[in-house]
Amino acid sequence: MLKSLHGKTVIVTGGSRGIGKGIALRFGEAGLNVLVVSRSEADAVAVAGAIGPNASGFAADVSTPEGCAAMAESAVDRYGAINVLCANAGIFPAAKLAEMTPADFDRVISTNLRSTFLSVSAVLPALTAAGGGRIVLTSSITGPVTGYPGWSHYGASKAGQLGFMRTAAIELAPKGITVNAVLPGNIFTEGLEGMGADYIARMEASIPLKRLGTVADIANAALFLASEEAAYITGQTITVDGGQILPE
Ligand code: NDP
Repeated sequence: MLKSLHGKTVIVTGGSRGIGKGIALRFGEAGLNVLVVSRSEADAVAVAGAIGPNASGFAADVSTPEGCAAMAESAVDRYGAINVLCANAGIFPAAKLAEMTPADFDRVISTNLRSTFLSVSAVLPALTAAGGGRIVLTSSITGPVTGYPGWSHYGASKAGQLGFMRTAAIELAPKGITVNAVLPGNIFTEGLEGMGADYIARMEASIPLKRLGTVADIANAALFLASEEAAYITGQTITVDGGQILPE
């Protein structure tokens, strides 16, 4: 099924840890050239090393236009094209509304939502030059579907990504570019581990499939959306949450 992706090039933002690392490893395994992007160069290079000679690490802050431009330029310089963008970088610091400062709010919106616009804009010329491509966003169930205390800024950023996606999908369809999003439930990553054992136990109990998701669960959905088999899917979401959002 994934033969069409062999030899193509993907940029994975936030590819140095957690879900992004899982996506980068999976796409590397499927034979794509992978540019692994994070602010830490050492972490990005380490993941690229684990993938093999078809991958490189690159340090960029995707909440800045300069970072996104440099990332796109680096992919084109190294691999000659960009075919897929996995816009995955994100942060989820908790802050209840009563304590949340405007700076807290702006930082989450900038890293999670503004980065989506900036990274898509930066790769657009290369995707267009390639005659089309795939954009896969990592959103969340929190915001688009549910809420969670401490995450009003995060929920706003993740719901905002879907608003962006729907119009981008319409605008970019004539260029042969599809734009879709994966909505992870609770996925076991270092980021989630920081939420504490109580949170994790509560989540496991509330999930019909009775486990947290793995990064591979998300990577497989992203890989499908990037494949030729998903050519007629755009502006859509795939929820990968073990059934968590289903009503009892
Ligand atoms: P992690 O904290 O494990 O990893 C985050 C990644 O993003 C790291 O590679 C980090 O590297 C990078 N990153 C953060 N800020 C920036 C930035 N400004 N520029 C470039 N890279 C950046 O998070 P997860 O893997 O858990 O989450 C990944 C995505 O999945 C996020 O968008 C998150 O919202 C979403 N998600 C996660 C869920 C989960 O259960 N884990 C559930 C639902 C959605 P560095 O710090 O070096 O920059």
